[in-house]
Amino acid sequence: MNPAVSSASSERLASFSANGAHGSVLVINSGSSSVKYQLVNPVGGEAIASGQVERIGQDDGIVTHKFAGNKTTQIIDVPDHSAALRIIMELFTVHGPDLAEADVVAVGHRVVQGGSYFSGPAVIDDEVLEKIRSLIPLAPLHNPGHVAGIEVARELLPHVPHIAIFDTAFFQTLPEAAYTYAIDKDVAEAHAIRRYGFHGTSHQYVSGKVSRVLGRRLDELNQIVLHLGNGASVSAVRGGVAVETSMGLTPLEGLVMGTRSGDVDPAVIFHLARNAGMSIDEIDDLLNKRSGMKGLSGESDFRAIHELVAQGDEATKLALDIYIHRLKKYIGAYHAILGRVDVITFTAGVGENDEIVRRLTVRGLESLGIAIDEGRNDERSRDPRIISPDWTSTLVMVVPTNEELAIARQCVAVVDELASGADASEDEPAAV
Ligand code: ADP
Repeated sequence: MNPAVSSASSERLASFSANGAHGSVLVINSGSSSVKYQLVNPVGGEAIASGQVERIGQDDGIVTHKFAGNKTTQIIDVPDHSAALRIIMELFTVHGPDLAEADVVAVGHRVVQGGSYFSGPAVIDDEVLEKIRSLIPLAPLHNPGHVAGIEVARELLPHVPHIAIFDTAFFQTLPEAAYTYAIDKDVAEAHAIRRYGFHGTSHQYVSGKVSRVLGRRLDELNQIVLHLGNGASVSAVRGGVAVETSMGLTPLEGLVMGTRSGDVDPAVIFHLARNAGMSIDEIDDLLNKRSGMKGLSGESDFRAIHELVAQGDEATKLALDIYIHRLKKYIGAYHAILGRVDVITFTAGVGENDEIVRRLTVRGLESLGIAIDEGRNDERSRDPRIISPDWTSTLVMVVPTNEELAIARQCVAVVDELASGADASEDEPAAV
């Protein structure tokens, strides 16, 4: 990890950290049409308060805030990100907790695309913000919202450090052979085309958590992490270092997802442009929003998908078969990359909650030393747990992810490192 820090930020942080301990971190996820936030206790791990402003740019924005068991929802005009952030500050003032009293030590901003610039957290100064802005062509749906959110948040909370945590950072360790696409290298270089990988905060958090839960050294574990939410990705992690991942230049590549196709022959795009008269924007929309489980079955939520399968819906049954087939393909491939797999972990909405998907994914992998115990798999729990039988060489686990906590803890690690003057670049990845 190598936080990019200007000397001005460093001084500000040092004086700041000298004043306060680790009260709370405000985590902000500023998307294209929504801003989600969580005030996190980085030590205990709980969300002190949370909420979101949705439908930015429309006159019927939905604003939700939760604190101390109370939830408030309002419909108000939210013209832009600046208004959204101001509304959030107002929500804290009116409904609590008072941010001035919450001892906020940092604001952590989730940023989807960090390109090749960032292999760890970055304290945001004008230079860092400019780099995030320069990456907009690589993440046109995400980075503009991040930039807008960061600009306003820095204005509104000028006395705390703002730290960017990148979805791509964990995958900056991929070997060149894993991140390079086999296309003309001059074209690739001119347009920064390569595999970046996404969901990195989750893959890093979960692989670190596995090591702590098992009480085994991270640098001795070979892991496959299956992050199966609405978006879905797989990573291969050798000794805590990411060596492969399924998402690529954008989060479209890889697994079948809620609404995204994952892998397709790129010639599908030329074919549709030439023969179906579709524009590039229409094809983008098709592959990102109208494909995956939604495109195949009409449903993207796995609870509805299982109901349809139980009712005998053939299209949905095929969709589920395709989803599982793709997952098995990636597990096999990453097994080959790693050579030996100590742990396979399911995480995120589907991975944590869907015992059917877990059972179908692992079924038939016994020859690789991978199996699940049905009873353990069916058990409902919010705790990290092992669901494989005692006899297998590879452990199969379910570990809930917590990206907000991971972001908050990385922020605290940065604040600590800078305050203590440690050379952050020589540290292990943040203990999250
Ligand atoms: P994201 O963060 O990518 O939006 P999540 O990790 O929150 O997604 O996962 C959301 C998905 O998790 C839902 O679309 C649904 O398919 C799945 N999911 C949530 N709860 C359950 C459940 N109890 N059983 C099966 N699937 C579930």
